Amino acid sequence: MKIICEKCGFTMNLDKSRIPEKGAKGKCPKCRHIFTIKNPGTGVSDNANKSQKTLYWLQGGGCGGDTWAFFNSEPPETSELINDLNIRLLWHPSISNHSIAAQNKLNNDLLSGKQALDILCIEGSIIRGPGGTGMFDTLLGKPKKDIAASLANKASYVLAVGTCASFGGIGADGEIEATGMQFQKWTPGGFMGENFKTKSGLPIINLPGCPCHGGVISGAIAALVSGIPLKLNQYNIPLEWYGTLVHQGCTRNEYHEYRVEEKKIGEKGCLFFYLGCHGPLVYGPCNKMLWNRRSSKTRVGVPCFGCTRPDFPQQYPFFKTRNIEGIPIELPDGVNRAHYLAYKGIAAAAAPERLKKRKTGI
Ligand code: SF4
Ligand code: SF4
Repeated sequence: MKIICEKCGFTMNLDKSRIPEKGAKGKCPKCRHIFTIKNPGTGVSDNANKSQKTLYWLQGGGCGGDTWAFFNSEPPETSELINDLNIRLLWHPSISNHSIAAQNKLNNDLLSGKQALDILCIEGSIIRGPGGTGMFDTLLGKPKKDIAASLANKASYVLAVGTCASFGGIGADGEIEATGMQFQKWTPGGFMGENFKTKSGLPIINLPGCPCHGGVISGAIAALVSGIPLKLNQYNIPLEWYGTLVHQGCTRNEYHEYRVEEKKIGEKGCLFFYLGCHGPLVYGPCNKMLWNRRSSKTRVGVPCFGCTRPDFPQQYPFFKTRNIEGIPIELPDGVNRAHYLAYKGIAAAAAPERLKKRKTGI
């Protein structure tokens, strides 16, 4: 029997015979959440009785990377997530094969209210060009921006998946007149306006990243379907996954601590002072929720370029730390500049030989 963690969506198999008649408490091996596992024989089972929720995925101005991150997420795999949480996938442009007539009917049913819409996922920026018409990006002959606005008004929840949908991303400075659903870079408003709320009373929930981590997408969908509240920060980003810096969990932390730094990609050391690492500047789960359950950029020696931050892609070289006289312009979030630099000087002098000689496994 399949058991799904009601908090993170992790799926596990459990022998039914091990569950007592009155149910049992279980702890999720992934997120450590404790929840009740009910006995299927007593009529109350895992998720079989959950009411069906509907999901519609609309792609705007983006590369499709968030779709592939989502499709590669596991555990649970995307199909398990959809089936086990009893989600009805109304439409996804990469896997749905509706005829144009069926697609038109579905959209009309959604807009008339005949078909309920629980979760709308928007991937990619909202393209308003040329001249505010939106005709650079159309679906069924209509500007996608108009479809996105109509569906957002009908949905209980809207997830802006990826940095482009959240904050405008790559096209936000260009002639395609792109914007995020409810933010333009750091500024609230975006396409739907600062005060927009979905039917559930929540603003559009932003899941930034280029792409967004697949586990975050699955986790957010699982939380919404299961009625688990997501605490958001001032950019409407869930703290569950974006409450810690990318730096936290990086295997190069000891190098950072003693200011043992890489000057060229491929060396051992921290990537902050010379190679542009944004790990201490941006928030995201990348070093705690590993990519493909194996690794992260910084773990393999590639500086984090801050793709979860609203101003991504920043208008300066990714792999070079902006500095004045060798001192980085941006220091780790929240530090006092003078204290930090004094501490770094002392720490560098105190660096152990094994680190200076790179005699560690990292
Ligand atoms: S490489 Fe980046 S994330 Fe890792 S310790 Fe250095 S600054 Fe932090
Ligand atoms: S490590 Fe940095 S650049 Fe890479 S995905 Fe995470 S936030 Fe984005």
